Amino acid sequence: MSTSPDWDVIVIGSGIGGLVTASQLAAKGASTLVLEQYLIPGGSGGSFQRKGYTFDVGASMIFGFGEHGHTNLLTRALADVGQHCETVPDPVQLEYHLPDGLTMAVDRDYEGFITRMSARFPDEAKGIRAFYDTCWQVFRCLDAMPLLSLEDPAYLAKVFFRAPLACLGLARWLPFNVGDVARKHIRDQDLLRLIDMECFCWSVMPADRTPMINAGMVFSDRHAGGINYPRGGVGTIAEKLVAGLEAHGGSIRYRARVKNVLIEQGRAVGVILSDGEELRGKRIVSNATRWDTFAGEGSPDSTLVAKDHTPAAETTWRRRYQPSSSFLSVHLGVRGDVVPEDFHCHHLLLEDWNELEAEQGVIFVSIPTLLDPSLAPEGRHIVHTFTMSDIQHWDGLKPKDYRAKKQQDASRLIQRLESILPGLSEAI
Ligand SMILES: Cc1cc2nc3c(=O)[nH]c(=O)nc-3n(C[C@H](O)[C@H](O)[C@H](O)COP(=O)(O)OP(=O)(O)OC[C@H]3O[C@@H](n4cnc5c(N)ncnc54)[C@H](O)[C@@H]3O)c2cc1C
Repeated sequence: MSTSPDWDVIVIGSGIGGLVTASQLAAKGASTLVLEQYLIPGGSGGSFQRKGYTFDVGASMIFGFGEHGHTNLLTRALADVGQHCETVPDPVQLEYHLPDGLTMAVDRDYEGFITRMSARFPDEAKGIRAFYDTCWQVFRCLDAMPLLSLEDPAYLAKVFFRAPLACLGLARWLPFNVGDVARKHIRDQDLLRLIDMECFCWSVMPADRTPMINAGMVFSDRHAGGINYPRGGVGTIAEKLVAGLEAHGGSIRYRARVKNVLIEQGRAVGVILSDGEELRGKRIVSNATRWDTFAGEGSPDSTLVAKDHTPAAETTWRRRYQPSSSFLSVHLGVRGDVVPEDFHCHHLLLEDWNELEAEQGVIFVSIPTLLDPSLAPEGRHIVHTFTMSDIQHWDGLKPKDYRAKKQQDASRLIQRLESILPGLSEAI
């Protein structure tokens, strides 16, 4: 059997990360193959079709479609491979529905947002401005340098010589979490909790465990590049990246689950698919989770790279990071009249502050048809709702019990959503 490489690079997984990597490599002349176990590209950023609806698998609040700077990662990743996504600007990032009737919408317009926040917390107007302006300082540093990993000091050191001032500005914030900075400017407990929720929305951690660098990015880019919904569904991004990959001679195979990475003399030289097929590449890139890729604490029994080939550094990394929870996701097609015309696309709902990090505590809701009605049949809307639900609550259930729990938990979720969408249960 020939052992010469079939490809320059084999990428395992067609999530947005895998596809951006693959298409960039193809555009630079590397022969690149993507292997995807599922039927469609995009992973958590894909879309699937059912009965005339186009549902987003997971993500639908999309950053990175700005026009300027370095943080418009999607715009640039697509342009690099000759592609472009038409997007619909979202005038409001999201609306919070919090305990004790506290609601807050986050306007795309920064001044509009600060005014709205200050009107709700007038005694904290100065602190609100100071806190969010600090986030802008961080953002300006980020936007001035080429972005890869925000959390890797070694990477930041590498780009130091290309953007020294931006790096120095950023390095200053590395040791801080959002909670440290928020408490410096703000006293009001409800407002601090709202900032916890602002962090939880995308880091699934409260402010005290969310790095300031990440907050600088999210809390400012939503006003700079803004939140923009790709027309035709979030999966369009992945489809365009696949088109860019193929236009540059790359290839993607679906229903191709990689079982193992082939290692020879300490180097990854290929992959073995679940049907036994072997493919060889000069470089192997994994877009599967870190836990599915390498062996160690928190990993399943079988990983892409076996225990004896997992680098020692992986153990150190796992001491610093924990996997975030899984989500229970419910995709609904609903009668259009249940969604008020002036409703915002994205919402977060929590009834009790003690439940912030609890299993099925915070509910996320997206109604992308408010931005792109073509995703649903006429007169209908899509309501996508999800909540944290760790796999341990589902693992090991018999199929009958699994189905019953799924039905029961979904019904409870829909029932809770009645507080912001009265009549929802009857409109499905
Ligand atoms: C419910 C939900 C809502 C979200 N909402 C938002 C949002 O609004 N905004 C936002 O910015 N982010 C959101 N996110 C997060 C965002 O979707 C993810 O961070 C992002 O899509 C992850 O991309 P990825 O490329 O790292 O991996 P993934 O999307 O996980 O892709 C990995 C791919 O690899 C494939 N794969 C894995 N193992 C193998 C194997 N052995 N062989 C072959 N293929 C394999 C998988 O099938 C998958 O297609 C959300 C996530 C979820 C789950």
